[in-house]
Amino acid sequence: MSAQINHALPPEKMAVVGAGLVGSLWALMLAQRGHHVDVFERRPDPRAGAYKGGRSINLALSDRGWRALEKAGIADEVRKIALPITHRTMHATDGTLTRQPYGLPEAQGKFDDPQCIYSVSRALLNRLLVEESEKHAQVQYRFDHKCTDIDLQANTLSIEDGQGQSQALKYDRIFGTDGAFSAVRDRLMRTDRFDFAQRYLTHGYKEIEMRPTSDGAFKMEADALHIWPRGEFMLMGLPNPDGTFTCTVFAPYDGPNGLNQLETPEAVHAYFTAHFPDVIPLIPDFAEQWLANPTSSLVMTQCYPWHHGDAICLMGDAAHAIVPFYGQGMNSGMEDCSVLSELLDAMESPSDWDATMKRYTELRKPSGDAILELALRNYIEMRDKTGDPSFLLRKKIEAKLATNYPGRWLPLYSQVTFSHTPYEEALQAGKRQDQIMEGILAQEGIATNWDRPEVFESILNAWESTGA
Ligand SMILES: Cc1cc2nc3c(=O)[nH]c(=O)nc-3n(C[C@H](O)[C@H](O)[C@H](O)COP(=O)(O)OP(=O)(O)OC[C@H]3O[C@@H](n4cnc5c(N)ncnc54)[C@H](O)[C@@H]3O)c2cc1C
Repeated sequence: MSAQINHALPPEKMAVVGAGLVGSLWALMLAQRGHHVDVFERRPDPRAGAYKGGRSINLALSDRGWRALEKAGIADEVRKIALPITHRTMHATDGTLTRQPYGLPEAQGKFDDPQCIYSVSRALLNRLLVEESEKHAQVQYRFDHKCTDIDLQANTLSIEDGQGQSQALKYDRIFGTDGAFSAVRDRLMRTDRFDFAQRYLTHGYKEIEMRPTSDGAFKMEADALHIWPRGEFMLMGLPNPDGTFTCTVFAPYDGPNGLNQLETPEAVHAYFTAHFPDVIPLIPDFAEQWLANPTSSLVMTQCYPWHHGDAICLMGDAAHAIVPFYGQGMNSGMEDCSVLSELLDAMESPSDWDATMKRYTELRKPSGDAILELALRNYIEMRDKTGDPSFLLRKKIEAKLATNYPGRWLPLYSQVTFSHTPYEEALQAGKRQDQIMEGILAQEGIATNWDRPEVFESILNAWESTGA
């Protein structure tokens, strides 16, 4: 499918700072409008293979990301490197497995619901986006080039290359897609009334790899996101197309099960034996990998506004770094691209840039704040509740509601993952749904007699009376 764009505006000279997932997609979208685009990336060219990355190896791509990729006309290319994930599989300590489909439940038990999420390799996706944008002659990537400052009066970027040489380069517009520790945002923080907040989660994460069997097969179901929920901490496994699983432990740094306590082979063995015994035969060298791999922290940032005049705009993690528990960081960054692109479609003259950037902040800032809150709430859900009988009962009731009363109840997860409803609306709707479901789950005997039309009708009446 080709990109759907409005070519009405004259080409301009654009700078994109940061060639991660959002920057390389946005460079492509700008090029499709005929703009000249210079992309500055402080790391080496990912295609040289030298840089291994400091973030997750694979990512869950869902509808908001797909929408942006469709708009850029490259969804079909991405589909070739994406692995469909149709359900969550929960692993209890005694090895019992419980499955929950992601999508609407017509497909329950069959797991062929088109509403699934997709696992993609961060490196492959980034590479594909760089290569697709580079097909446009007016796009130039400069790897090993770091943005160090911006002159806001002159709209000039200070760029330092790998040899430490600096130059000042002038642009019509500058897009900051340089991640959670954005240099572009740093410069805006020195302007009047620019708000910024940063917070670290008290939990961190460590990745280890589950390799395939000797004949290349996956060692667990390949169409599932695997979770070992253990209260304050959890293990997650997401498959990769090469037969491996990337397994990530999210846990507090401190306390009895804290990451800081797991620094010897004995401690790591005892931890896995107590909490993840079924993983031990599947990753025989888990302790060696654990001790060799870094422990990474999880940062959250919020800022306002997401633009400066008509010349500078923040997108992706540079505007809103969130914790990864809803699988929405990249997806929301890609949604920034599709929303800004739609606003550009409606522009009639370059003098509209000012209003367009303002509108972008107005639309996206509430969404960024909401997806941060949703992601924090989902961490508690994943690590604490996915094994809880009352949570599982709620999921069953919601699944039946969605099947038997189509369109009248869309579970929060579906609103966030499989719709384009603004995150802030989904968050509010989810809070109203929580209240209703709490009342239902508190009813005497509900565990055995939930599957009755009166129960569903009372939920739907309560829901619809809120104006939904
Ligand atoms: C463990 C983990 C799991 C995750 N899982 C998911 C998931 O399943 N689904 C999902 O949607 N999201 C997920 N995310 C979030 C996702 O990784 C981010 O939201 C996404 O990478 C943001 O993309 P970005 O392009 O905005 O920023 P980044 O990917 O951080 O890219 C920014 C780029 O800017 C460059 N840069 C930085 N400073 C400068 C400078 N001064 N000059 C030039 N270049 C610079 C960096 O080198 C980098 O290449 C996860 C995150 C983590 C940590």
